Amino acid sequence: MKFADLHTHTLFSDGTYTPEALVEKAGKAGLSCISVADHDTAAGIGRAMAAAEGAGIELIPGIEMTAEYCGREVHMLGYFIDSRNKALNENLTLLRERRVERIYKMLEKLKGMGIKLKAEAIFDLAVYGTIGRLHVARALVSQGFVSSTSEAFNRIIGDDCPAYVLGFKLLPQEAVKLIRGAGGIPVLAHPFTLRDDSLIGGLIKCGVMGLEVYYPEHTCAQRDKYIKIAQQNNLLLTGGSDFHGDAKPKSELGSCKIPYDLVEKLKTARGSNL
Ligand code: AMP
Ligand code: ZN
Ligand code: FE
Ligand code: FE
Repeated sequence: MKFADLHTHTLFSDGTYTPEALVEKAGKAGLSCISVADHDTAAGIGRAMAAAEGAGIELIPGIEMTAEYCGREVHMLGYFIDSRNKALNENLTLLRERRVERIYKMLEKLKGMGIKLKAEAIFDLAVYGTIGRLHVARALVSQGFVSSTSEAFNRIIGDDCPAYVLGFKLLPQEAVKLIRGAGGIPVLAHPFTLRDDSLIGGLIKCGVMGLEVYYPEHTCAQRDKYIKIAQQNNLLLTGGSDFHGDAKPKSELGSCKIPYDLVEKLKTARGSNL
């Protein structure tokens, strides 16, 4: 039986693996297919495609775009995107610029909490990639302010924590339009992070075509609930480990994998979407 892991990151965002090392690891994990879905960048796709071709692994070009909805951060996955699409890339550049501004706002909030973290401690961790909270968490660990990245998220930079900042300025319907405009399939990532299922209906109305129901942090009950919601709304089912390499060691590559027939369904939907 063939398996796929449709949610992975490289060092072009907040993962720690190169695209080549990621593909090699996917082969060793026995995966037939992976998607690189970096935060707000398609920069790793070309290298991942080339490596995958050499390794006999199927690589689905992906993206994880950051949108905002009802004051919350919403991650929108896009599968089978044309990674060179102009409108998509223009907006990804904007998102990355806003992420840099956001880091400075977070630094101000941290300062207000008495945490004097140097900007370089964060930026040095994101030399190649889209900067994000995982880099902030790692900097907080390396500078001795917390003992683990989990503690950083739980106490300081998690969604409801004192140093959290939004600022992406992209609506889910805009993310959906950009992904579809680039030939991709928009899928709502890890729906449990919304922590409010009443928001899912509104997001579905934005044009989402699938739900990431298989996710390491979903309980069985949550998974079953999201499968039901997807079925009721005629949505595709996807899943993946959200592998970030050593930056998030609990989410091993392939730790959440899906049977390949779900990839076939994505492909069929893509055909009717083009
Ligand atoms: P951002 O896109 O900058 O808001 O950061 C979101 C990223 O932070 C996610 O993709 C994860 O990599 C990471 N993240 C979120 N919550 C946690 C957590 N509780 N522990 C570790 N990493 C997390
Ligand atoms: Zn991430
Ligand atoms: Fe995410
Ligand atoms: Fe992710």
